[in-house]
Amino acid sequence: MLYKRTKIVCTLGPASSDLVTLEKMIRAGMNVARLNFSHGTYPQFEKIIKNIRSLSKKLDTPIAILQDLQGPKIRIGEMPENGVEIKANEEIILSTNHEKFATGKIKIFPVQYKELHRDVTKNDLILIDDGLIEVKVTKVEGTSIHAIAQTDGVIKSRKGINVPTASLSADPLTPKDLKDLTFGMKHDVDYVALSFVRQASDIIRLKKILRDNKCAAKVMAKIERHEAVKNLEEIVKVSDALMVARGDLGIEIPAENVPIVQKRTILLANTYGKPVITATHMLNSMIENPRATRAEISDAANAVFDHSDALMLSNETAVGKYPVEAVETLAKVAHATEENLEKYEHLLPFKIKKFDLPISSATCLNATKLAVDINADFIVAISLSGYTAQHIAKHRIYKPIITFTNSEKVRNQLALVWGLNHIFIKKMNFKNASQEVAQFLRAQKIAKKGQEVVTVINASKDENVITTTIV
Ligand code: PGA
Ligand code: MN
Repeated sequence: MLYKRTKIVCTLGPASSDLVTLEKMIRAGMNVARLNFSHGTYPQFEKIIKNIRSLSKKLDTPIAILQDLQGPKIRIGEMPENGVEIKANEEIILSTNHEKFATGKIKIFPVQYKELHRDVTKNDLILIDDGLIEVKVTKVEGTSIHAIAQTDGVIKSRKGINVPTASLSADPLTPKDLKDLTFGMKHDVDYVALSFVRQASDIIRLKKILRDNKCAAKVMAKIERHEAVKNLEEIVKVSDALMVARGDLGIEIPAENVPIVQKRTILLANTYGKPVITATHMLNSMIENPRATRAEISDAANAVFDHSDALMLSNETAVGKYPVEAVETLAKVAHATEENLEKYEHLLPFKIKKFDLPISSATCLNATKLAVDINADFIVAISLSGYTAQHIAKHRIYKPIITFTNSEKVRNQLALVWGLNHIFIKKMNFKNASQEVAQFLRAQKIAKKGQEVVTVINASKDENVITTTIV
């Protein structure tokens, strides 16, 4: 397997649920299994979770399981089999009071979200089917939204709807999400991703539900709504992890602004020590073809240059023809790019000056600096919650980071984080931890006699310690 620090998230589906394919994907460099609850059934997810857990044991590789909740994706309702054509300048109605397509003088398209007529007004743009079709609202009468088509197109059943010019009141935790969450908590997933987050309170609410159910899953905010871009820093602060969800984001805001939001989200996530995924359309052409395009390779490499913790594959691995090759491609890109990354470094969080750091993160910062200054061979995090390891990794230094934790949950969760490739479950005696670390690294043949180690013990607690040892 190629050594890489950037992690790979694979969305699992019919193309990648069996043990043989999954094992090949893990060996090729997959670190996180994403279960997309917009598709699939509970028995299918149960089978995937079982397969992942057993392979993770067999290969002694931590794999984080990420449950991605569908959220309030707004969709067209039931349409005739081949959809219905509309022409530019045609007047249509989007109705929240119809379950099925109807036609009279004007074509009436059903909308599944029953509040849409309250949330839009004259001149709002409504985008249908990933932005392929655009209609402009002329008036709202009761539950009928009158609109003029801006383009020709065919509207088919259950296609997605986005309204970039309005703020939708839809709750990010739908009844379906709550039911799916119960399933996720029962199966002890490692991360729960919330779709269409608007503001920090959406995340806080999900965290409370997890806490009330004694679930240790971490919460990931998907940045895909224009409101989330506005509230970005507040969302980063309260989330455990982030996803730049470029699919919906590119419809909600002008597509040309997506790379800018990607950079801003990653920089903020790095600064706060939260793992961040760059997602969607990464190697899109590999759904059908065995080779990615130059532009896709370049996009993946630039997401590494931006300091993403992880890159994500969606349909490429869920339903594509080449799931294993897609993982191999990303692993090669990550490996090749990381080899050159140091030359292009300029955005590292520890270069940001105006920062009133909490003691815990300042401890990690200074341990990292110390390791660089003395050119240590290893930096070691003794990290019970994962905090210390994450706040060392966020500085993106190119020395092996060794993590000791005492929980399998934390080990799996850290599988998402950049640079954390050596995570051991081992209870350490804090009093002479640096000696214990040196012995362990030597016994495991990770370090050689004479090599230098910087160890950080428990940065998030009061009695944090930084030590240096010679193996
Ligand atoms: P989705 O989220 O695949 O669940 O829509 C990712 C995105 O919108 O990019
Ligand atoms: Mn999305």
